[in-house]
Amino acid sequence: MITDPVLRAEQVKALKAFYRDAKVKYKAWVAGGYKQPAPACLPFPDICIGMKCEARTRSGAPCKNNGTDWGNGRCKHHGGASTGPVTPEGKKRVSMNGPSNKVLEALTKP
Ligand SMILES: [Zn+2]
Repeated sequence: MITDPVLRAEQVKALKAFYRDAKVKYKAWVAGGYKQPAPACLPFPDICIGMKCEARTRSGAPCKNNGTDWGNGRCKHHGGASTGPVTPEGKKRVSMNGPSNKVLEALTKP
């Protein structure tokens, strides 16, 4: 069963805010040198309870796994932890990986 796209967008937005706020709290605790007790867990957004991944699977049916594993509303199979390179160094390093770049690099070497 596919969720209403408007509701789905609200769920993903609430989930992203939840993970973002939790991360901010955790980072503050780490920056404080773990001196104070660990921060209490934030309340999970009610709108996200029972949320499904709903990514299109190879069979064409929507994924039925729990969609709250990542902040993007997908399950552990479809969410992915990486958002790609962020820093300029990382982007440059990744851009050197393609076969076309290796050919170009070999051609441009003196
Ligand atoms: Zn999934």
